[in-house]
Amino acid sequence: MRWSATLIPTLKETPAEAEITSHKLLLRAGLLRKLAGGLYTFLPVGLRALRKVERIVREEMDRAGALEVLMPALQPPEIWQQSGRYETARDVLFKVRDRAKKEWLLGPTHEEVVTTLVAGEVNSYRQLPKNLYQIQTKFRDEIRPRFGLMRAKEFIMKDAYSFDSTDEGAQLSYQKMYDAYSRIFQRCGLQAFAVEADTGVMGGKFSHEFMVPADTGENEVVYCESGKYAANIEKATSRGPLKATPNDAILPIEKFATPGALTIEALTKPPYNIAAEQQIKTLIFVVQSKVVLVLMRGDDQLNEAKLTGLLGTAEFRAANPQEIHTALGANPGSLGAVSVSNFPVYADEILRGASGMTTGANEDGFHLRNITVARDIAAAKFSDLRTARAGELCATTDQPLKIRRAIEVGHVFKLGTKYSLALSALFLDEHGKQQPCVMGCYGIGVTRTLQAVIEQCNDKDGIIWPKSVAPYTVCLTPLSVVKDCPVMQLAEKLYAELTAAGVDVILDDRDERPGFKFKDSELVGFPLRVGIGEKSLAKGEVEIKPRGGTLQSVKVEEALSHVLEWVKSA
Ligand code: ATP
Ligand code: MG
Repeated sequence: MRWSATLIPTLKETPAEAEITSHKLLLRAGLLRKLAGGLYTFLPVGLRALRKVERIVREEMDRAGALEVLMPALQPPEIWQQSGRYETARDVLFKVRDRAKKEWLLGPTHEEVVTTLVAGEVNSYRQLPKNLYQIQTKFRDEIRPRFGLMRAKEFIMKDAYSFDSTDEGAQLSYQKMYDAYSRIFQRCGLQAFAVEADTGVMGGKFSHEFMVPADTGENEVVYCESGKYAANIEKATSRGPLKATPNDAILPIEKFATPGALTIEALTKPPYNIAAEQQIKTLIFVVQSKVVLVLMRGDDQLNEAKLTGLLGTAEFRAANPQEIHTALGANPGSLGAVSVSNFPVYADEILRGASGMTTGANEDGFHLRNITVARDIAAAKFSDLRTARAGELCATTDQPLKIRRAIEVGHVFKLGTKYSLALSALFLDEHGKQQPCVMGCYGIGVTRTLQAVIEQCNDKDGIIWPKSVAPYTVCLTPLSVVKDCPVMQLAEKLYAELTAAGVDVILDDRDERPGFKFKDSELVGFPLRVGIGEKSLAKGEVEIKPRGGTLQSVKVEEALSHVLEWVKSA
């Protein structure tokens, strides 16, 4: 490709819309343009990089035995009603109407479609296992589309769905995808790692997210430096808080006045001086129109993902002050679960066996001390509900845990039979008995992965593409572009030879100052630049510079083989 013939509208200034480095670079390097919030056009060079990511994904999926299909993006709502997600996923669903005013959905994901397909095509265990995948545009009505391709309304996903006749088979299918994902991200030049992920209302332990460490990532990952444990904060556990929970001598409950002290923090101060770990925090939720109490230790944070798993539904919200007053007879700040018998009470595991605790009295301006949880809150059901914190000890290794931010680029998930039962993807086993397929689903955000590469691979001058996904591998930069001058003749010759050798090469034939051309090629981030100028040519040399590496003079006659070797090297 000749630079003058393509469209690479590089920008000197950073557009105000971009907050994070990779988004800025996508725009500045002329790879992407915004149409509206969360909607982007890929320009030619950006599209080339995207296609390379897609090719890696496709090769590894094929290698793992998955079969490529292409399903409609437009989906009938009926199958979503059948699976139950028409309601639970309503917030992200884009709905459209046809001329007959019938409603259709723009697919945010394809479990319903693929399961309907398999229900019609598979009827015997002999046809299993099958893994079907596609690379396709998805639509999600995100609350906050942001960071460019990271969280868009429309984005490209690779989604795969495995169907097995047995649970062991499903685990094998899961492992194959896990391994394929590891290879995919590695080939894209990404340092991605797998973490245990929340399984939401589905339960089970087979869910991993592939994370790319980045300060701008929207996820928090809890990990142990030994490399033996890593989990999304939504899922992470530890040996427990560093400060022990009191289990003091068991004393009778005492009510005491706490006028104006409405927070855990306020009670830690004089005249009360009650440490946060000695307090019980009472949270009130409305779950499908019923009130539920959740008790946490005063210094702990509730983990909503864990609560979702416990309740078996994500359909809950914090109760409003009116609902709280109606339920408990007091306002927030003085709430507790002592003697509460008409609502379910869930307590964090840490509170089991606790005594000498302080909690609200369900009377404005009063608290209770000397609470022995087993005695005074007998209705409590215990479960792990707390959010793990940095510094706590890893349950696997006993080493201190760390927390870092990361970008979720992929997700593998064992689904079980939820969709196959709901949408009748059944088969006859070897005894002639009808069984539901055991499913798994596996997603990669292809467009997000592309941006994650840029977020991880850049410097102050621009993008540093890994060779595997670079839009062009080599940028030929003649410093004079006068037709048929010796510099341009050599550039044209190398261009023809590299192209013939199958190298993706761009010839910067623009009549611009050398500094300008160098800056542009660094910004767009081509892995290797070959500079051809009069001065070096007089010495019989060209100047070769890997992006982010050091400049090297190479004899003209060795230039081609030198570049070819570099391109082939790992
Ligand atoms: P997130 O937690 O980031 O919202 P998710 O868990 O809802 O993502 P999945 O349903 O697991 O996403 O989708 C599979 C992959 O698709 C994700 O791992 C991510 O890489 C990508 N993805 C999801 N939502 C978006 C989006 N709005 N824009 C770009 N990529 C996305
Ligand atoms: Mg996910």
